[in-house]
Amino acid sequence: PVAFDVERVRRDFPALHQRVRNRPLVYLDNAATTQKPQGVIDALEHYYRFDNANVHRGVHTLSERATAAYEGAREKVRAFLNARSTKEIVFTRGTTEAINLVAASWGRANLRAGDEVLITEMEHHSNIVPWQMLCEQTGATLKVAPITDEGELILERFDALLSERTRLVGVVHCSNALGTINPIERIIERAHAAGAVVLLDGAQSVAHLAVDVQKLGCDFFAFSGHKLYGPTGIGVLYGREKHLAAMPPYQGGGEMIKFVSFDRTVYNDLPYRFEAGTPHISGAIGLGAAIDYVKGLGLESIAAYEHELLGYATEALTAVSGLRLIGTAREKASILSFALERIHPHDVGSILDHEGVAIRAGHHCAMPVMQHYCVPATARASLAMYNTRADIDALVRAIHRVKEVFR
Ligand code: PMP
Repeated sequence: PVAFDVERVRRDFPALHQRVRNRPLVYLDNAATTQKPQGVIDALEHYYRFDNANVHRGVHTLSERATAAYEGAREKVRAFLNARSTKEIVFTRGTTEAINLVAASWGRANLRAGDEVLITEMEHHSNIVPWQMLCEQTGATLKVAPITDEGELILERFDALLSERTRLVGVVHCSNALGTINPIERIIERAHAAGAVVLLDGAQSVAHLAVDVQKLGCDFFAFSGHKLYGPTGIGVLYGREKHLAAMPPYQGGGEMIKFVSFDRTVYNDLPYRFEAGTPHISGAIGLGAAIDYVKGLGLESIAAYEHELLGYATEALTAVSGLRLIGTAREKASILSFALERIHPHDVGSILDHEGVAIRAGHHCAMPVMQHYCVPATARASLAMYNTRADIDALVRAIHRVKEVFR
């Protein structure tokens, strides 16, 4: 087994140590949101107890402290993604807002009738709907590269859909519905060769894989703090400086300007031009604390541990008769979507909850994936670095209980 002190990690997450329905909680809904380590909770408390003030404009001490902490968090995100500059790190509400920012700002400035946006069949709604809206507004066309029944992107079909009309390729790094890790290096290389820019939806990848935006060469990378052990309501858009510098503002208001009069407004420098209004200061600080925590363990060790656990879980679930795994790609991370013969996923989810096991049942905001597999929904267990083989054993026991109830 991989050397990873999971028991020590678990001690840092207070929410894991409670009983649900009179059973020890087994939390396997990490793709929806992760639990928070004490260090993140402490960082939020410290900010509100001692440093709470608005940022950037203040002349007083608390405002200087809040600004230093907020901008310090931006630097932590920069280093975490290995971006060249903090100018390339824009704080948003989450992945959804980051993608909407690109669609609204880059999209309206760069897309014309006849242009194309290329996405995949396994995208989350947040990497589908903003492009549909943009195509409606601009007369561009949305193209969709299909997947196999294993849940892998069909690369030849993707290549065939790329053309000189493709302006942007939007791809999920790791699918939240299937667990598939896409071959993004290859996708980026082909997309760039065709002259398209590439946006990666990193919502499910940042907590499970080391990401280096310079090495990947992507143009945009979006993720949410709450899936990386940080707070909700905070996320990040990484954008290459050359793109961000040429993009019009997304929202107007305070913070994003240098000068305003009724005749003329001068917009602020990067990245502030894309952060209108008072930002989620505590959220950014909490995200910074989450990054510190993850870096302390090392994403390579986390990934190795989770990979082994995913293998154990895949074997255990495959051995359950009447259970079908949905998403069996060769490269996968953290997700086990499944269907139980003749039992609705919502019933699976409810009975598992009675056993203290938290999973998700539904379409996972990826209805086209459900349509591909002709199911209304799946049950989904999703792993984090604090899960153990004992959690998987509890899941399997609870699934057997579901089968007994429906026998
Ligand atoms: N993309 C993927 C792959 C996701 O899993 C999620 C969250 N379920 C999102 C985008 C959207 O993230 P958020 O709701 O935090 O904006």
